[in-house]
Amino acid sequence: MTAGIDATHDPALCSWVDSANDPSIDFPLQNLPFGRFRYGGEPQWRIGVAIGDQVLNLRQAGLVDHDDMNRLMQSEPRERRALRQAISEGLCHGSARRNAFEAALVAQSAVELGMPCEVGDYTDFYVGIHHATEVGRQFRPDNPLLPNYKWVPIGYHGRASTLQVSGTSFHRPMGQVKAVDAAQPVLVPSARLDLELELGIFVGQPNAQGVPVRMEDAEQHVFGIALFNDWSARDIQSWEYQPLGPFLSKNFASTVSPWIVTMEALEPFRQPFLRQAGNPEPLPYLDSAGNRARGAIGIQMEVVLQTARMAQAGHAGDVISRSNFAEAAYWTIAQLIAHHTVNGCALRAGDLLGSGTLSGPGEEQRGSLLELTTGGKNPITLSNGERRGFLEDGDTIVLRAYCDREGARRVGFGECRGTVLPTFEGTGA
Ligand code: CA
Repeated sequence: MTAGIDATHDPALCSWVDSANDPSIDFPLQNLPFGRFRYGGEPQWRIGVAIGDQVLNLRQAGLVDHDDMNRLMQSEPRERRALRQAISEGLCHGSARRNAFEAALVAQSAVELGMPCEVGDYTDFYVGIHHATEVGRQFRPDNPLLPNYKWVPIGYHGRASTLQVSGTSFHRPMGQVKAVDAAQPVLVPSARLDLELELGIFVGQPNAQGVPVRMEDAEQHVFGIALFNDWSARDIQSWEYQPLGPFLSKNFASTVSPWIVTMEALEPFRQPFLRQAGNPEPLPYLDSAGNRARGAIGIQMEVVLQTARMAQAGHAGDVISRSNFAEAAYWTIAQLIAHHTVNGCALRAGDLLGSGTLSGPGEEQRGSLLELTTGGKNPITLSNGERRGFLEDGDTIVLRAYCDREGARRVGFGECRGTVLPTFEGTGA
């Protein structure tokens, strides 16, 4: 477990970067999320830290001597805390290093933001128990939650190659689907395209192959968290998912936000992790005193849907769901790391673990259209009168999240934005 609250979390800290002191901004001095950016026309990604509406170029500020984010992510937790401390001091009001840091600042609007790191492997978990129960009810009415769910953090291996950064569009996938009453399947554009409200957990320090990570050490291997939209084609999924789980219904596109909010920045928002009555206690390898005391994190999340018609009218879109990580998740981040490595599996810096869809218990807290519309049967009506069962071409989904509590400065995650394009109709050449 990390060392806890320090001077970098002091809610009274102000920055000489004026935009960082706006109480509603996602990137105040207490946040300091990491990402990669480049100046116009350059091939080289650089390591940046978001402060207000600016990016601090870490190498130019003299804080690192390279531009390799994955290398930085491998640092020991104490090195990461020392770097956070140095960034915080340099950006703090009255800092003696202001001139050097000021020369290393660039407006976020003037640079291209990339994937926050190179992702070698991507695993998607299924920690949202309300999501798992509701989806299970639709796919298997008699048997919604399979008996392993409350014992095993369920996951599958996804594809890193189709992860894309916020702001990137993607084509509606083609796929094999079969209507319940049809004799055979057909290859068609997915008609049940969906979003999934998830968090993306980035691995920092690797573990050696063959060496499981214990619960007590698990969070030392986590660099931080970003927003993650795991676009899903429900009609392809329902036909292909048995017996080996999702395949082409999930790996055509997944969108990641550009800023990784570090575990250090999330420190003030830790909460106890408790199993509700009626649920089994985790096996010992998934349990620790630290996890019980502070394994959960209160992260408030929301999903915005903006249709093409709304975009044309200058309408930012409707919030269609609100949820909270601590309420939605049956397993903690430490448990995901401990379970993923218990067989000796090696995690590497930059590996991405999707949380799974983070639906809350309430009807307005559902993190996918599959749940919000009961499989398309009850379409939602938007503020401009349009209706949606599943996503249509031109629809944009924006995920946002923040942490807030009394006595701490609010920190946000920025946004995770993606737009659905029509099915690809070219030769690919
Ligand atoms: Ca997913």
